[in-house]
Amino acid sequence: MLDNIVGFVKLASKSLHPKHRHVALIFHQGVLLAWSNNSREYHAEDRAIEICKLLRYKSNLTLISIAITKEGKLKLALPCVKCQAKIVKYRISNVFYSTSSQAIIRWIS
Ligand SMILES: [Zn+2]
Repeated sequence: MLDNIVGFVKLASKSLHPKHRHVALIFHQGVLLAWSNNSREYHAEDRAIEICKLLRYKSNLTLISIAITKEGKLKLALPCVKCQAKIVKYRISNVFYSTSSQAIIRWIS
């Protein structure tokens, strides 16, 4: 899942938000289930989790949160407090996010 950074960056670049280019992807046992960009109205993680709810997937989920700069470099995509609460509530046990040091690290709730 984490080996497709180029694909994640491409999806993040599709964000309609004027400043924050962000994508969240949710995998179920390694298969991509849902993804969403952010916008001014919603956060990427929030929207991706809502899609999973509609699909009724509830276990073995991995969420990857990627944010990029205008130049397409990784930047910090640690989910906000509200999204963190939603991640915990929806019991997504594996969460990874990009950092400005060009790494993708695991979020420990
Ligand atoms: Zn959020």
